[in-house]
Order: sequence, then C-alpha cells, then structure tokens
Amino acid sequence: MADLALHSVEKTFGALKVIKGIDLDIRNGEFIVFVGPSGCGKSTLLRMIAGLENVSGGTVEIGGKVMNNTPAPQRGIAMVFQSYALYPHMSVRENMSFGLELSKTPKAKIQERVDIAAGILQLEPYLDRSPRELSGGQRQRVAIGRAIVREPEVFLFDEPLSNLDAALRGQTRVEIARLHARLGTTMIYVTHDQVEAMTLADRIVVLNGGEVAQIGTPLELYRNPANAFVAGFIGGQQ
Ligand code: ADP
Ligand code: MG
Repeated sequence: MADLALHSVEKTFGALKVIKGIDLDIRNGEFIVFVGPSGCGKSTLLRMIAGLENVSGGTVEIGGKVMNNTPAPQRGIAMVFQSYALYPHMSVRENMSFGLELSKTPKAKIQERVDIAAGILQLEPYLDRSPRELSGGQRQRVAIGRAIVREPEVFLFDEPLSNLDAALRGQTRVEIARLHARLGTTMIYVTHDQVEAMTLADRIVVLNGGEVAQIGTPLELYRNPANAFVAGFIGGQQ
C-alpha cells in the first residue's frame, strides 16, 4: 500500500540543479537510509517526498498514485527534523496532540494515541511537563512521538540525532530501530553517520551531487562499493 517510488525526480533552485534525476523503489516497511556529503541534496529529496517542496521534474508515487500535487498533510507521511521544533509554551502532551487537533481528530482518539506513543517512547512521566524541562534526547523523543500519533504510512527522519551527544545518539538510534520493528512502517532516514546507516538500514542510498552513487544493503555496499566515493563513505575496500 505505501510502496514509494521516485521516477526521474529533479529539483532546480533558479539556475542550480540540485537533484539530477533520481529513480528509487522503496518497498512497504523498508528502512531506507540516505547518506552523502553535506549539500548533496538529502534534505531536498526528503522534503519533496514529504510534499514540503515541489518537484521540478519526475514523479513521487505512493501506493501507485502520483503525489506531486498532493498537499503534505494528505500524503500519509510524517517528518522528524534535526531541530525538534517543539512549541515551548505547550506541554509535551499538547505538543503531541496539536497536529491531530488541527485535523479535527476526536479528543478521546487523540488522548489514546498520545498515550500509546508516550508508552512506546517512555515519555509517560513527562506528558504534563514543558519541553523546556526536558533533555535533548527527551525532546527528540517528543518530536518522534508527534510523528507517531499521526499514524503515518511513511516516516521521514532528517538527521534526527545530530544534535545529541554520542551516548544519547546510540541510545536513540536503538529506539528508532525498535520503533521500526514494532510498527513495521516504511522509514526513510537521512544521516551522514556511517554507523547509523550501517546499523539501521535495510538498504542504503548513497547520494553524491544530487545523483544516486549506489543503492544496496549495508553488506553489499561494504563488500562491493561501486566506486571510491562509496567506499570512502561506507568504509569498505576499493
Ligand atoms: P543536504 O541535506 O544533503 O546537506 P540540501 O538538500 O539541504 O543538502 O541542499 C542541496 C543543495 O541545494 C545545496 O547546494 C543547497 O545550498 C541547495 N538548496 C537547498 N535549499 C535551497 C533553497 N531553498 N534555495 C536555493 N538553494 C537551495
Ligand atoms: Mg540536510
């Protein structure tokens, strides 16, 4: 149902072509990781999938339907950003409820979904607190909770752990893996951290200069990098 396909997707900003024709088929439930150097187009690609940015060429398809002109809230996609973008004047529960209130979800349903998400993320003790009282790792869990309550068919993560210290990064990475195992939802995860990519991904998409350098399982890329660039990124032999 949520199979996701990109066909010849392009993006230009003025005279600058930053995504140069990307083809990608993602199976329902797959954990896909985009890696590549800063500025190679990872965030732009995610934002086009989410509907936060128009595509300049090609198609984004979800469940066999072209989504190019479908507004973001109707795509069944939730995105978690590096900056948690929580509302400081709202409690954790209110932060997690806000999007559902906008979409007129019944109050009882909102409460139920927030409670479930808080359970998954071990946020129950913090529901009535302000985000200001939470640690960086807890705030990022609230941001993930806000995505979970929407029950999306696809989760997009844009470098969600890069503001956390090393220990918390490892811990939150394990939680994201657990979340994927539990929900079985398609996830696309952007990182420039090789360990995150190798441990989380079913398949890794290596991007370079707005193009796909290679797609494969972590083991495939490690054993058979297509070129020196991929080998450099993945740490395999060339
Ligand atoms: P990454 O996430 O891989 O670091 P981005 O997708 O953010 O890369 O950016 C890819 C390229 O597109 C960069 O050269 C960046 O400067 C450019 N870019 C991104 N957003 C815009 C924008 N709104 N206007 C102009 N250029 C942009
Ligand atoms: Mg980025």
